[in-house]
Amino acid sequence: MKKGLLIVFSGPSGVGKGTVRAAFEKNEALKLAYSISMTTREPRQGERDGVEYFFVTKERFKEAIENGELLEWTEFVGNYYGTPAAYVEKLRNEGKNVLLEIEVDGAAQIRKKVPEALTIFLIPPSMEELERRIRGRRSEPEEIVQQRLSKAEKEMKLISDYKYVVCNDNVALAAKIVTAIIEAHME
Ligand code: 5GP
Repeated sequence: MKKGLLIVFSGPSGVGKGTVRAAFEKNEALKLAYSISMTTREPRQGERDGVEYFFVTKERFKEAIENGELLEWTEFVGNYYGTPAAYVEKLRNEGKNVLLEIEVDGAAQIRKKVPEALTIFLIPPSMEELERRIRGRRSEPEEIVQQRLSKAEKEMKLISDYKYVVCNDNVALAAKIVTAIIEAHME
């Protein structure tokens, strides 16, 4: 069986990665499997352990780093996030195209380890719109909002490291473009 693709889907926090993903991941022809990350951040309202993330303690996360369990990991706005390696490998060997929704540091680590990875960066129509979307989530204190915005500015400078850049002006359209990119790479 042909090994599945490793797809890295990045974009600043608040750009709508999850929403765009929801619009294309149910397309069975794409044979996608979402890689659930491990994180030390608190669950947001409605987030479930083992669905959006595996929510773990800092001690458990450090243990995962020491045991080499993570394909990549990073610290983002005071919390750790990482991709469990074994799960990704298992799914790819089953022919699934594995989607990692991760930030830019993690994407750089993946690029080194898996140079053939298909990397896609989702950009907002403008930074003003991004700020509006982050604030619209209304779940975080101002200090965190500011940190996310400043991180977003830095992330936007790295888009040329990605194979594809897609604008999320319209969710359905962005999902269609990402679908076309994945389909083209499956051939
Ligand atoms: P959030 O707290 O908004 O869920 O995630 C913050 C950022 O961390 C987002 O850009 C998200 O894509 C990224 N992220 C989520 N999981 C991982 C991971 O396993 N590794 C890395 N490097 N980034 C991740």
